[in-house]
Amino acid sequence: MRPFKSTLRDVALQIYTSLSTAIILVGGGVKLTALETQMSATSTTPGYTKGHRVLEVLAIVTLFSLVAAGCWRALSAAGPNDGWWLAAGIFFGYVLADFTSGLVHWMGDRLGGYETPILGAAFIRPFREHHVDPKAMTTHDFIETNGNNSIVTVPLMAAAWLIPTTSSLGLFCFSVALSLAFWIFATNQFHKWSHQSEVPAIVAWAQRTGLILEPNHHQVHHTSPYETYYCITNGWLNAPLHKIQFWRLAERFVERWTHMNVYRDDVDTESSSVEASIDELDKPIDSQGPTEHATA
Ligand SMILES: [Zn+2]
Ligand SMILES: [Zn+2]
Repeated sequence: MRPFKSTLRDVALQIYTSLSTAIILVGGGVKLTALETQMSATSTTPGYTKGHRVLEVLAIVTLFSLVAAGCWRALSAAGPNDGWWLAAGIFFGYVLADFTSGLVHWMGDRLGGYETPILGAAFIRPFREHHVDPKAMTTHDFIETNGNNSIVTVPLMAAAWLIPTTSSLGLFCFSVALSLAFWIFATNQFHKWSHQSEVPAIVAWAQRTGLILEPNHHQVHHTSPYETYYCITNGWLNAPLHKIQFWRLAERFVERWTHMNVYRDDVDTESSSVEASIDELDKPIDSQGPTEHATA
């Protein structure tokens, strides 16, 4: 039988999780109406409203506290032999976050448009404008950089509480969800750093070692015809997904089964420049070109 204290703790966490998720969802509804009214926020980004910024702040605070509570839940439930399960879950969550970043990025670049209901202004627009001016995101503050990812991650983190942590497998699944949520949150920060001319020394080290998205690696995505290397957390899955033509197959699948039009940049479709960029990645870092190139 479970100790009364730990049952009480779980109930308190459940209530907190449900309440914070409800706040985010209700906030989402309020935001949609507020979206009609353009209000000045700290950013000059078109479509970035004060209502959306408030939602972003709420989401970031909620996500941080949920992740902290999740770490506590996982550590207090772990037995002496569960360390490897937790470590494996964190690693798998990091890989899964990279895939998720690619999938969401691909959808933002290729599906729908500015006029798409609900998602157009707040979620699709930043992806499209990033290709017009890749450096613009480097002027965004912490909230604008990480807010959108936090909004989509809070419900995921809330759902993760349904995973029981009474077995090693449950603990593994919960740590995957926890890790996934955290790295999805961090993804746009990694993306922003990959476009910055200067980053803190520790960030540059993490980029060089491939622990997070490396600038020259990401530059392949910003090379004509802009249709590969969508993963932007650490980029580990970019090469294998490019090799099996995953994104091209996904586009064919969408066009065939949903009859949606896939958006393509108005550029030449010669892919030789992308292959040349990928070949460049195999050369030593010192012999590679400048980190930032002019992009369309
Ligand atoms: Zn893109
Ligand atoms: Zn980029």
